[in-house]
Amino acid sequence: MANGILIFGEVRGGHLKPITRELITAANQLSQAGGGPVSLALVGEGVDAALGEAKALPVSKVYTAKHALLAHYSSQGYAAALSEVVKTSGANVVLFGATTEGRDLSARAAARCNAALFADCTELSLQNGALRVKRPVYSGKVYAELESTAPIAFASIRPNVFVPVSGAGTAEVTDVPVQIDDSMVRGHVKEVVQTASGTKDLTEAEIIVSGGRSLKSSENFAILEDLAKTLHATVGASRAAVDAGYRPHSYQVGQTGKVVNPKLYIAVGISGAIQHLVGMRTSKVIVAINKDENAPIFQKADYGIVGDLFDVVPKVNEEFKKLLGT
Ligand SMILES: Cc1cc2nc3c(=O)[nH]c(=O)nc-3n(C[C@H](O)[C@H](O)[C@H](O)COP(=O)(O)OP(=O)(O)OC[C@H]3O[C@@H](n4cnc5c(N)ncnc54)[C@H](O)[C@@H]3O)c2cc1C
Repeated sequence: MANGILIFGEVRGGHLKPITRELITAANQLSQAGGGPVSLALVGEGVDAALGEAKALPVSKVYTAKHALLAHYSSQGYAAALSEVVKTSGANVVLFGATTEGRDLSARAAARCNAALFADCTELSLQNGALRVKRPVYSGKVYAELESTAPIAFASIRPNVFVPVSGAGTAEVTDVPVQIDDSMVRGHVKEVVQTASGTKDLTEAEIIVSGGRSLKSSENFAILEDLAKTLHATVGASRAAVDAGYRPHSYQVGQTGKVVNPKLYIAVGISGAIQHLVGMRTSKVIVAINKDENAPIFQKADYGIVGDLFDVVPKVNEEFKKLLGT
């Protein structure tokens, strides 16, 4: 195992997603264990801005796979293009962010490359040249350690697990020709519309402020939006809040919502039902605000405030504003 590690460079709004630097840290660990050089794949139509960013990353090579039919993400089109890059690079480990796009693409591209696939990994290593990963299973109750026996292994990496690599480089660029036709991008995305500008997706957010049924209305979520604005955080919700129509389903954290892994999770007026906990219990620091001192969320929380959220949240927000000078 020394043919190299390839990272799929996910692009959003023309720019590389921040998780790219986390993936380089993960790839460097494998490289230092004899995994070979680290390179990056860029797939799209015009990837100029992202290419400028990619060339300045500490990787040895950047491969581009460009085609007019790759203007928007399509799993078939991108998988076909990425497979060509995998072949050209000769890499035998390919890493993705465990984002919506990364999970979708890694599965289809792994099938095309006849590769093993490990999803949502939190640790990677090489054991006698084979990729070994650790990943949470059974809603995060236990970790499974798995080892690849296939010649090529794909892995998606959970956001906010690896420290983003610092530093810069001057990577060499190789264009990889791709053969794509209309049949491969049937039903593809025509337009991408951003819903909330400036906020990160829940699965990638470093700070999340989540609200529960206790918010009582959609309008009352404004106090959480205000706190989130101060902290540059993303707002989430419990299923009860979503079912009550206070927030759309895309905000839901938990078993039937999103699994998140932020550095800080602030649960506001959320009881801490097991179905909610499985979606956020790997958060690095959990803060709970609840008026019931016996609420189960306090058993998981690192810090707790017992009080009425309508009093506490604005006060907490004011204190953060003073501390952060905003
Ligand atoms: C199959 C299945 C899947 C599910 N999937 C999910 C999921 O993905 N995500 C999810 O979240 N849930 C999920 N649930 C639902 C879950 O069981 C709980 O019902 C839900 O999480 C409760 O949401 P909540 O904490 O907002 O509401 P509640 O349980 O009603 O809790 C409200 C909390 O707010 C506190 N509170 C009330 N007023 C105030 C106030 N003014 N100030 C401070 N605190 C206050 C209360 O003390 C209480 O602790 C699922 C359930 C099932 C059966």
